[in-house]
Amino acid sequence: MKKIIFIDMDGVLVDFGKQVKKARENPNLSDRLKNHPDQIPNIFKNPPVYEGAIEGVNQLYSSNLYDLFIATSPAWFNPMSFTHKRLWIEKYFGQLFKKKMIITHRKDLLIGDYLIDDRLANGAKDFKGKLLRFGYDYEKKTWNEYRDWDSIIKYLL
Ligand SMILES: [Mg+2]
Repeated sequence: MKKIIFIDMDGVLVDFGKQVKKARENPNLSDRLKNHPDQIPNIFKNPPVYEGAIEGVNQLYSSNLYDLFIATSPAWFNPMSFTHKRLWIEKYFGQLFKKKMIITHRKDLLIGDYLIDDRLANGAKDFKGKLLRFGYDYEKKTWNEYRDWDSIIKYLL
């Protein structure tokens, strides 16, 4: 049986940091949105892909060892983010994640082997399988254990 991997979007597949930085350059952006960039209209519509993410996911997929799912927590007060995330996944991965996208703010309730996530929020901290802490920790300003897609691939393949 294939092992199950849940993959977070922002900070793992999506370079959300780059997208926010660009949005904050808008001089007309209100202070409220500057402090809550996840509520900027269309901020989730077409953010750039995280470096190495496409190649990494495709390598995991073609290894045939894993069943891959998206596990993402959209911005609750930006309801279009739910739809924009679904469209983003199709744009970059075609049908690879068709009907394999879990939208949740309780990742601790997911049943599976691995969760690749940059943060501990939304239940990731209490995920029952193994959390592979990815990329950069913006709160602590340090690199996580698996700092890029190469290190994830090295561990899993
Ligand atoms: Mg994230």
